[in-house]
Amino acid sequence: MQGTLYIVASPIGCLQDISAHALDILRRVDCIACEDTRHSAILLQHYGITTPLKAYHSHNETQASASLVEQLRLGLSIALISDAGTPLLHDPGLVLVQQARLAGVRVVPIPGPCALITALCASGLPGEQFIFAGFLPVKSTHRQKELTRLQHESRTSIFYEAPHRILASLEDMIATLGPLREAVLARELTKVYETILTGTLSELLQQLLADPQQQKGEFVILIKGAPIQISDAKAQEARRVFEVLVQELPLKQAASLTAQLTGVAKNVAYQWGVERGGK
Ligand code: SAM
Repeated sequence: MQGTLYIVASPIGCLQDISAHALDILRRVDCIACEDTRHSAILLQHYGITTPLKAYHSHNETQASASLVEQLRLGLSIALISDAGTPLLHDPGLVLVQQARLAGVRVVPIPGPCALITALCASGLPGEQFIFAGFLPVKSTHRQKELTRLQHESRTSIFYEAPHRILASLEDMIATLGPLREAVLARELTKVYETILTGTLSELLQQLLADPQQQKGEFVILIKGAPIQISDAKAQEARRVFEVLVQELPLKQAASLTAQLTGVAKNVAYQWGVERGGK
């Protein structure tokens, strides 16, 4: 019998943010693969879990995956955790999951915290449709290029950012998306100094410049989507059809029918509904 690979989400700050199921799995598996054994030991000690830890990080991903998959094939069960949140979300684990799947090993997700979802649900920005763009490039020119691509994105855009780049990223966002674009800065979520600031990009930058304390810690940046432009007759006609349909039908159905009848993209019609507060 092959073992099972569990992908277990762990807290992003507050140690209590871990499910009973996750703790049970961490107790029962033969070994826990983690990014930093010293960091994960704090969580395990807190819950009195004595399962052995094995280092699995971006530098040894290929080698460590091969050895872990071998153990899974021999029947051992393994949990993968990262330093914070959900593994594979800007954290190691892809190689392990791919190799385990190739070897026919069962891969079981154990859901829990994730910084982008935690930030989104408290941001006040639409969460029906969003894009997660991870970390922006380090170089300002590359960062601006990436942000320019997102200039007309109508869904909420979400980024991760490190404290030493937060000011530079906000400045580049102002340069590309404009100072008046609404945004949210979610800092140190679930931790003692958690702050969720809302305002225009320029207001947020001013707040951070005025209070260096607000420049510290871990950040999720959320940008309100750009309004959908209705530039031609076809789009205007689509909007008219949508407005009629949405009076009678649930939003999803109205968006889908508008797309079929007019050729406008379904997500565009759906976004119209979101903007008017529909469900
Ligand atoms: N796997 C993690 C997840 O599920 O969110 C993300 C890991 S990624 C390497 C780390 C980044 O996530 C940080 O630089 C920060 O942008 C964001 N992050 C993690 N914890 C956070 C927190 N407590 N508050 C705000 N952002 C956080």
